[in-house]
Amino acid sequence: MNFKFKIKGKVCEFKNKIKKINNQTVFAVKKKEHRMESQSGSAFSAIAEYFLNLDTVVYGIAMNNLDAVYTRITNTDELKDLKGSKYVQAIVGDIYLDVEKDLKNNKTVLFGGTPCHVDGLIHYLKYKKVESSLLFIYDFVFHR
Ligand SMILES: Cc1cc2nc3c(=O)[nH]c(=O)nc-3n(C[C@H](O)[C@H](O)[C@H](O)COP(=O)(O)OP(=O)(O)OC[C@H]3O[C@@H](n4cnc5c(N)ncnc54)[C@H](O)[C@@H]3O)c2cc1C
Repeated sequence: MNFKFKIKGKVCEFKNKIKKINNQTVFAVKKKEHRMESQSGSAFSAIAEYFLNLDTVVYGIAMNNLDAVYTRITNTDELKDLKGSKYVQAIVGDIYLDVEKDLKNNKTVLFGGTPCHVDGLIHYLKYKKVESSLLFIYDFVFHR
């Protein structure tokens, strides 16, 4: 893998403990047409579809042979590649650079992945001083 930047220790680190949030609003989502291809109720597909119909860019995980890799999509036909949980660590590659490029081109971006990779992206963009008001993020909660 050819990484174009190395800023180890400055971007991807969980410095703070996860804070307990009180008074949360919880929604349950079940979208019939995506459910059988998704891991749970297909909330992801419902949200991604909404964004893609607004002409935005969506990032998630697709399989590339045996690798799970962060992938950029721009239309609902490509959504099938991102559906479903891939229970391996995804390869980040140069995807933060792609997000940076999209934001600099004033594109609205929906980016999702593991909490640590999402956190890494946020720190990366702050480090690079990229204007991020068009960035929307999603991640998921692990529980045992
Ligand atoms: C590695 C992993 C572990 C999980 N562990 C739990 C758990 O312990 N308990 C629990 O309740 N839920 C867990 N989940 C979440 C759960 O499996 C569903 O992904 C989630 O409920 C969303 O389901 P969905 O039907 O909305 O979307 P789906 O269509 O099932 O989810 C697709 C979304 O997951 C993302 N995704 C897929 N694989 C990966 C990956 N390897 N890394 C990062 N993002 C990925 C895609 O980019 C897409 O955004 C886990 C998910 C993953 C990826």
